[in-house]
Amino acid sequence: MSPTPTPSQLLHAFLDTTVNSIIPLTAKGVASGCKVFGAAILDKETLKPIQVATNDETVSPLLHGEINCIQQFYSLPSDQRPLAKDTIFFATHEPCSLCLSGITWGGFDNHYYLFTYEETRDTFAIPYDIDILEQVFRVPSLSSSETPTDLTSRPLYNKSNKFWTALSVNDLVASLVEGEEKDQLEKRVKEVKKMYDGLSETYQNGKGEKGIPLA
Ligand SMILES: [Zn+2]
Repeated sequence: MSPTPTPSQLLHAFLDTTVNSIIPLTAKGVASGCKVFGAAILDKETLKPIQVATNDETVSPLLHGEINCIQQFYSLPSDQRPLAKDTIFFATHEPCSLCLSGITWGGFDNHYYLFTYEETRDTFAIPYDIDILEQVFRVPSLSSSETPTDLTSRPLYNKSNKFWTALSVNDLVASLVEGEEKDQLEKRVKEVKKMYDGLSETYQNGKGEKGIPLA
């Protein structure tokens, strides 16, 4: 069995993959009216990307970056693709309910993300991840002891469940011991996040013209 990658190895792999592979694809995507979301499937042992994809909603509103990536991964010939459980799943943005299900059905036992739902809503002006989970899935408990405050303070989904464990890049950084390496990685995360400012602006300026239902 291969050794479990350390948080620091994962962070380097995610940031390198984002800068070298995901952002160039995203730049093309937003120029054609697609959202900024991207994903990568990495080999658990080498941490090299096996598949990288971005959002393709101008073709279909279901082609989120993660779904596109899973589809392309499963389109590889079976002798050229590891089992999903031997890979690491990375999403630039915390996966929505569609993609959480896609990751589950795809057989992945983990996923990691750079931006949280709150950042997607507040920094990217895309509120639908939280909106859908609250509106579609947040069922009030039949127990009379649950107050409306209890309901709204419930987590939106199980970040650790029998199928997978989800962690953010911030969680990984927080797990590092204090010191120079942590400071450097913290700085690099900020720099990579900053690279999304222009991509987000391009999407926001052009949205509404392509007929995407939840633009
Ligand atoms: Zn999604």
